[in-house]
Amino acid sequence: MSAHVDSAPDVLALPVSSLAGVGRIRSAALREVGVRNVGDLLRSIPRRYLDRSAMPLIRDLAVARDRRTTDAKVEVTIIGTVLRIRAVPGRKRRTIMTLSDGTGTLDCVWFGEGDWLFHTFSVGDQVAASGTLERFRGWQMTHPEIEQIDRASEAAAGADQDGQPDDLMHMGRIVPIYPQQAPLAAVGLHSRGMRRLIRRTLDRFGGRIGDPVPEAIRRRRGLPALADAFRQAHFPDSFELATEARNRLVFDEFLGLELALARRKLSRARHEVGIAFPDVGPRFERLLARLPFELTEGQKQVLREIRRDMRRPAPMSRLLQGDVGSGKTLVAVFCAVMAADNGWQTAIMAPTEVLAEQHALTIGRLLFEVSVDCVLITGSTPQAARRRALAEVAAGDVPVIIGTHVLLSGDVEFARLGLVIIDEQHRFGVVQRESLRRKAGKDERVPDLLVMTATPIPRSLAQTLYGDLDVSVLAEKPPGRQPIRTVLCTTARAVDAAWTAVRAAAARGEQAYVIFPLIEQNEAIDVRAATEGFEELRAGLLAGCRLRLLHGRMSAGNRDSVMQEFKADRVDVLVSTTVIEVGVDVPNATVMVVEGAERFGLAQLHQLRGRIGRGTEPSTCYLIPRGKLSDEARRRLDAVASSDDGFELAEVDLDIRGPGEFFGTKQSGLPEFRLAHVVRDAAILAAAREEAFALVERDFDLAEPEHVPLRRLARPFAQALAAREKADRSTAA
Ligand code: ADP
Ligand code: MG
Repeated sequence: MSAHVDSAPDVLALPVSSLAGVGRIRSAALREVGVRNVGDLLRSIPRRYLDRSAMPLIRDLAVARDRRTTDAKVEVTIIGTVLRIRAVPGRKRRTIMTLSDGTGTLDCVWFGEGDWLFHTFSVGDQVAASGTLERFRGWQMTHPEIEQIDRASEAAAGADQDGQPDDLMHMGRIVPIYPQQAPLAAVGLHSRGMRRLIRRTLDRFGGRIGDPVPEAIRRRRGLPALADAFRQAHFPDSFELATEARNRLVFDEFLGLELALARRKLSRARHEVGIAFPDVGPRFERLLARLPFELTEGQKQVLREIRRDMRRPAPMSRLLQGDVGSGKTLVAVFCAVMAADNGWQTAIMAPTEVLAEQHALTIGRLLFEVSVDCVLITGSTPQAARRRALAEVAAGDVPVIIGTHVLLSGDVEFARLGLVIIDEQHRFGVVQRESLRRKAGKDERVPDLLVMTATPIPRSLAQTLYGDLDVSVLAEKPPGRQPIRTVLCTTARAVDAAWTAVRAAAARGEQAYVIFPLIEQNEAIDVRAATEGFEELRAGLLAGCRLRLLHGRMSAGNRDSVMQEFKADRVDVLVSTTVIEVGVDVPNATVMVVEGAERFGLAQLHQLRGRIGRGTEPSTCYLIPRGKLSDEARRRLDAVASSDDGFELAEVDLDIRGPGEFFGTKQSGLPEFRLAHVVRDAAILAAAREEAFALVERDFDLAEPEHVPLRRLARPFAQALAAREKADRSTAA
């Protein structure tokens, strides 16, 4: 018995070509869909299952129907063999496929183009048809969902090969349906072919499949043994067992990833020496005492977490997630003050000049309260000023440096960089954030890192994507905030109402934003659209309001004066491109109109509207689409209109776009999972992460005999992570 564990890796690592019925051609086809060995094959689990016990015989349909009210639309699934397929020409052209299950016949009817049926099905194929029943010269289904279970040609071939036809009658109650994949179908491995191949593989090797996951973990997490999981995933005794089996396989994938992440993180922690900030100094206390409000519980909690990290000599790597307006900036200020109290510099990097400028104002004002100096360095900083600032930074005379990616350039040198704060992580790559961190000056020690993002993503997912970062979440918003009402204006009347609201706000002494969209990846064109829109509004709908235009092509000086005027309430309506997307904070602004709203992403819209609702008056955001809405755009806009919760919206966004697009391939760069879904399986991911980190903490090299098999789970992920870093580095160079 104990020999099973030792030989375990070997069975799953066997190439598929060693299986009976898999020759050169089939193994090539399998390789094409990512199946190289027995393990890959057994992880190719069914797309879905049919429950035969829930499927009536055609003979019983009348009975089944009699029991319900006669006009009830009853959805049923019938399994039958294709008797004939025929096209019926005429005004109402249709194609009819007749099925028989030996107890009666059923006509499946498609109106219109039906040629695909002739290409897809042949007489003798076994299929499952799902739909609602109608009575029309016997039983009929119109446009049913149709699932091919067996092929006539294959059934014959199968029976020839080993003389044991495994048709449905010999199977369990639950029939596995495998995904249709073209390369496999071409070599006779569609659903039935896969079923037979996997059945034979399990029969032959099932008893020799060991389990890489230690029993203690399995018991703790209620996971079935691997061999049982394979069996139940393919030929389940119940739907519950099938789900449990799938979850076990998903757990293994996540465990592999998390082991790789845990090992990378721990090895960094071992090799890097960071900075300890022992004191919560006098200026920190003074700033706290001078705030006109209480910190929220969330801010206190997050500051405690950061404080704990900063006190330790190991370098902090922390992601701070918080919805727009949750008060992240204030957290950043406290961190910078703490660093300053301990004699270290802080660099704060923002993704745009406008945001860096805003930060310099708001952060600068807070720092001024406690006599901590700061400088702003962006691409627009005039040469002389820049030289002066750089000299101060290099001499260590200024403790807080705020800027854009310009901070990464070679002539920026820090005397004592102790803390790096990066706002809006999504705009910067991993390497950029690391390269700022490497500018620690003469000191070899690695500065602490705090990354702040307003694009909230599920916590477990954040931990995976930013695997080396710890995650803090600012869940609540400061008290007294008014919820933002969001209106999707799909009629001319609704659009009128939006502009009326802008004029009314101005009349009340409140302010408004009008946002023009990103039309092309070309800023000049966007600027033109905003400029034209601005002129039109000024001459037309918003005549009489004090309007100003803001866009990224203006000089920093002009931009600054426009922002100052808006802040000082000398402007009623700020017409802008998306440069104001992040960070701008004017509590008196209560109305926002987004023109061409369908052109914005979901997260972007949520960010944008976060500019209002910052004061005590109720705020409204009007989304005006231009042109016809696609289904996806409609879903996106409806979601934004119906929820004000960034986390909820992030999930919708992920669901619409999938993680790959959501993060951009470069940002994610994660190896593909065969089964796992990072959002839907978040709970399993969290469990796997806990186990992986505990394991690596105890046995970094996975050297204990019980842990050795785990290396195989982690290897592909470790390789992918290494490749990602290498690619990042070469694009940054
Ligand atoms: P974020 O950067 O997370 O989008 P900000 O830091 O811009 O949010 O905060 C939004 C507004 O809330 C700012 O005007 C800020 O002064 C205010 N604010 C922050 N923390 C608190 C608090 N604890 N109580 C009241 N207002 C707060
Ligand atoms: Mg912010």
